[in-house]
Amino acid sequence: VLRLEDVRKSFKDLDVLRGISMDVARHEVVALIGPSGSGKSTLLRTINLLEPVDDGRIWLRDLEITDPRVKPDAVRARIGVVFQQFNLFPHLSVIDNVTLASRHVWGKSRTESRGRGIELLARIGLAEKADDFPDRLSGGQQQRAAIVRAIATDPELLLLDEITSALDPELVGEVLELVAELASAGTTIVMATHEMAFARDVASRVVFLDGGVLVEQGEPSQVLEHPREPRTQAFLSRFT
Ligand code: ATP
Ligand code: MG
Repeated sequence: VLRLEDVRKSFKDLDVLRGISMDVARHEVVALIGPSGSGKSTLLRTINLLEPVDDGRIWLRDLEITDPRVKPDAVRARIGVVFQQFNLFPHLSVIDNVTLASRHVWGKSRTESRGRGIELLARIGLAEKADDFPDRLSGGQQQRAAIVRAIATDPELLLLDEITSALDPELVGEVLELVAELASAGTTIVMATHEMAFARDVASRVVFLDGGVLVEQGEPSQVLEHPREPRTQAFLSRFT
């Protein structure tokens, strides 16, 4: 589904991505781990064309999305994204948030998209909150609504950037549970996370980034429990 080839990105003289190559197959769940500043968010942003790459190429299926002729909106319509916070538009009701993309991407009317929107909200137990504004929801409910909004158009790839980092601890579980459900339903996911237990249980692969370099990747149990690289070992030792 996704291929990165020698992706490089600098901000002024700071090399944030120093030649990242990786492949993500359909139905894979890739957990990106690494220290703060290692480039996880920047990498996700290049995939969504929020950040132009300086060098290297990215393919989404057979489309080279780093080709300057490719329209970012056409790529973004095929990728769902959820960030750490501020995902929902505060001035739109929950249902309007959830159906916004399908109205834009598929040109559906509010009435046409409402049924599917309610269905998605019902899956996360929020159907009765459809016409409320986001500030009436808990942080965990907002993130779950943001996730169903991201999958409302059946994207080929779901990018999640530390989606539980801003939540109160008691709300983290419900959000991760939804991600686990999507993962077992076959959604292709690339997620930056600090939730190592979750990465071990749900990811099909763990990728460790450090200083903009892909240092190590492999099966979650291998990378997390028996890391080969000293830098991975040093990073993980902080979590135990
Ligand atoms: P965290 O775990 O804290 O979220 P991260 O791995 O997601 O970290 P990035 O956000 O990708 O790290 O940042 C990588 C480096 O790039 C950091 O040093 C950051 O300060 C820098 N950086 C990111 N975006 C910009 C920008 N727009 N302009 C300048 N520097 C940036
Ligand atoms: Mg980040």
